[in-house]
Amino acid sequence: MATLDTSIDRAIGGKAAKALHQAFEMETVGDLLCHYPRRLADKGKLTDFSDLPLGEHVTVLAKTVVVKSSPFWPKHGGRRGTRTEVRATDGTDGRRELVMTFFQQPWKQGQLQAGTIAWFSGKVTLYRGHRQLSNPTCEVVGRGSDLDEFEGEETQRWVPIYPATAKLTSRAITDCVEQVLEVLDDPPDLLPEEVRAELGLVSYATALRRIHAPADPPEWETARARLRFDEAFVLQAVLAQRRRMMMSLPAVRRPSREDGLRSRFDAQLPFTLTGGQLGVGADIADDLARQHPMHRLLQGEVGSGKTVVAVRAMLQVIDGGGQAALLAPTEVLAAQHHRSIVSMLGPMAEGGLLGGDQDATRVVLLTGSTPAARRRQALLDAASGQAGIVIGTHALLEERVQFAELGMVVVDEQHRFGVEQRAALTGKGGFTPPHVLVMTATPIPRTVAMTVFGDLDVSTLHELPAGRTAIQSNVVPVAERPDWLGRAWQRVREEVDKGHQAYVVCPRIGGEPESAMAEPVLDDEGFSPRRPPLAVADVAAELVDGPLAGLRVFMLHGRLRGEEKDDLMRRFTAGDIDVLVATTVIEVGVDVPNASLMVVLDAERFGVSQLHQLRGRVGRGTTPGLCLLVTEAPAGSASRSRVEGVAATTDGFELSRLDLQNRREGDVLGASQAGRRSSLRLLSVLRDEGVIAGARDVAERVVTADPTLAGNPSLAAAVDRLVALEQARYLERS
Ligand code: ADP
Ligand code: MG
Repeated sequence: MATLDTSIDRAIGGKAAKALHQAFEMETVGDLLCHYPRRLADKGKLTDFSDLPLGEHVTVLAKTVVVKSSPFWPKHGGRRGTRTEVRATDGTDGRRELVMTFFQQPWKQGQLQAGTIAWFSGKVTLYRGHRQLSNPTCEVVGRGSDLDEFEGEETQRWVPIYPATAKLTSRAITDCVEQVLEVLDDPPDLLPEEVRAELGLVSYATALRRIHAPADPPEWETARARLRFDEAFVLQAVLAQRRRMMMSLPAVRRPSREDGLRSRFDAQLPFTLTGGQLGVGADIADDLARQHPMHRLLQGEVGSGKTVVAVRAMLQVIDGGGQAALLAPTEVLAAQHHRSIVSMLGPMAEGGLLGGDQDATRVVLLTGSTPAARRRQALLDAASGQAGIVIGTHALLEERVQFAELGMVVVDEQHRFGVEQRAALTGKGGFTPPHVLVMTATPIPRTVAMTVFGDLDVSTLHELPAGRTAIQSNVVPVAERPDWLGRAWQRVREEVDKGHQAYVVCPRIGGEPESAMAEPVLDDEGFSPRRPPLAVADVAAELVDGPLAGLRVFMLHGRLRGEEKDDLMRRFTAGDIDVLVATTVIEVGVDVPNASLMVVLDAERFGVSQLHQLRGRVGRGTTPGLCLLVTEAPAGSASRSRVEGVAATTDGFELSRLDLQNRREGDVLGASQAGRRSSLRLLSVLRDEGVIAGARDVAERVVTADPTLAGNPSLAAAVDRLVALEQARYLERS
């Protein structure tokens, strides 16, 4: 007999185990049984070709219409061979055909003669406008005019179709699964009996058997519903435990003071805070005064003024005797925060300097490229407590960065940091953990918040400061309107003539070997630009010699040294640069209110939220912002609609939905490497809001009743596995 932990090697023998391992890195029976069928095929029905995903390995049931063999001569010489071309139909109207070519298998001519019904597996590609299966394998089911003729022959009508590879077909996986299910002991159930009854879910053992070998589709759905719930439930149990743990931690209270830096800062602000900034600010002020650490996520539209909210919170902490660390995802952004916070604070940031305010503090910057002398001073200021605010990139996570009394950690643009990275920084608070504020400009739907940030309280800034005009975005479709590009450069000139500044964004720096370039994305319509993405270096050179001759054009990208980037941003902020040709280094947070125009080249190569972030760099002051999205993607292609979708709305929440729909679930949760095993196989954080909310309630109840899960070993084990998986990912990334 076998359990989920038994190795597949033992359960089904070495050869099959090796194939499973090579294809999907499977080790145990549990790994195999968690490889769920992608769909259930009806043996009584041919597969509809119209929704076969391009580029994926599929298994279809089809009927051959034409089978032709012809001689061919191999390219590099050698003996004459046979090529057998098979055209198959999905039985609809004869117009939807699938073409398959078999080389050196002359027997296929007889095996697949017209009218044969067979399972075909292979990768879907497009060839001269026809769907084609490349490197197909086949398994004959029968022959005839009507599929019903075969129905009696085999008992199983519903066939599970698995994600498969060229070497390991869906059928081969089915065989392995069948063998394993025969010897499997019923695994224990991690859902308490009464919860199962209450929610009307089948047992785990039943679900595991039914998802692989259901009698019919409704049975398959009951299995999927149960297993989908489990995915949400284990995740929510982890989060419930984490919340509980944090609630039990002590923190130093930092209540707001009437006579501190924070009040002085408020009094000298050059603008009035928005209602949202005040409301969220009050929540944070209360959090900081409690004896448990704050864990709050602040989400807000691009330009909604999150930084001021964070600065006020940091000053409250300093007033309470603590220090604050501000973690930014890029050097450009860290340097900008440093510059703008220093200038916002004025004399309040000149602690220990002549002319500094009494009880003023210091704001220091610490990134990978901070020169040695300044770095030493910054480290010293952090360790001695002189620096009230320490701003930096990942460099802040390094061990030698010490604080005298770290009272608060602010993480800007959260989506670049994982839970563990947050933990590495909060660990620097010593025995009493600091308060944590996480800021993100990528608004996330509620379910995603419950899943990805389920351990945080969420605040949202909905409004933009008064006087902002919405950014206008236009698509420049150079495929149909090549002349519009010239017009775009003309617009850049006009803006500069008016005293404004502009960004030109390209997907690539330039000068890198071709192998280092990302593969072009092939979208649904098979649109794939044949040229490499445009590069900053090439575009800048062309602009300087051509349409933007005479303007002060500079390049900004990730390969420049830290000081160079810093210097460029400083000069751009000061207005000494007219046009910055840049990569996405300017994507997050860069704040130059005088910049009014952005031209994004190869716009279809950027993601939805990336484009939204990018255009958020213009229209930040009172000048209206304009964003021109230049694309060669033809009208009607998926790429083009994505770009048009971004142009059509500036509502970040709507866009983040659009974005998430375009991505795989795994990416949403941060596990983006293709082929990685995700802990979510059935659960969709977008569609399954009800499941997630239900699982969250149950998890909260279960964890409250039994915080260590001592009474439910299988749940405890599942929780451990998920935590270990998350940690493993963190290690891989760092
Ligand atoms: P984000 O939320 O995108 O990080 P920032 O905090 O960078 O936005 O703020 C964008 C700009 O708006 C900054 O120049 C900031 O000084 C300004 N700002 C913030 N709050 C207000 C306000 N209440 N009124 C006017 N301008 C504001
Ligand atoms: Mg910001």
